Amino acid sequence: MTEHEIAGFAGLGLADALLTSLAALGYENPTPTQREAIPPLLQGRDLLGQAATGTGKTAASALPLLQRIAAEGASEDDQRKARALVLVPTRELAMQVAEAFHKYGHQAFGTCVVPVYGGQAISHQLRALRRGVDVIVATPGRAVDHLNRGSMDLSGVQFVVLDEADEMLDMGFADELEAILQAVPRPRQTALLSATMAGRVSAIAEKHLSNPARVTIRRETPSEGEIPGVRQIAYVVPRQHKLTALG
Ligand code: AMP
Repeated sequence: MTEHEIAGFAGLGLADALLTSLAALGYENPTPTQREAIPPLLQGRDLLGQAATGTGKTAASALPLLQRIAAEGASEDDQRKARALVLVPTRELAMQVAEAFHKYGHQAFGTCVVPVYGGQAISHQLRALRRGVDVIVATPGRAVDHLNRGSMDLSGVQFVVLDEADEMLDMGFADELEAILQAVPRPRQTALLSATMAGRVSAIAEKHLSNPARVTIRRETPSEGEIPGVRQIAYVVPRQHKLTALG
């Protein structure tokens, strides 16, 4: 193994199948969030992560979870029961996170991911859930809807991610989160990601995480002296000479 590989994703303990997916996606090195979050999650620990969007936080939880699901093997009964539940605040994020789990896990392990969110016909989701799924990525409101209808079986879930927990609480989903977490059996592995760790977020963490690994990544903001200067120049050019001036 070269020094580069040790410093890269391979050094974090990710399986070859995932390394192949990452190489195909052109990911060369883990982000700081990934470097810190992946090893404890692979070890099975809970995680309390303070990380903003754009820090690679989705892959930071998706990669180790996908690997742990694959390592555990298929569930005992024939039915393909969901093994992981990812809760996100919005429909857009549900689609985006489901797509990320799919692109990392489908090629590597044949993982089947279903996004479940409000605003989409419930019949479509009912069919997808009935067919069997490994990972459900859901918004809290629609998840509770499915729980009440008996159409979302969480009895096989061993991994939970609360993504953008602060946003979910700001949107008034505290009761839904409680109801959903009550429906997931223990023991389980839980990762809570949030841009802020305000009082209500730490209360949820306190209640639902057990001895979590803590990861705090702030987006790097250069200090004033370090901000590179950008010089802007405008040339007034008659319309007929514009193309020539660009050359
Ligand atoms: P996120 O913070 O999870 O929303 O990710 C931000 C973007 O970075 C997404 O488009 C990812 O596909 C991309 N990304 C995540 N991790 C890496 C990485 N290690 N190398 C290159 N791109 C990445």
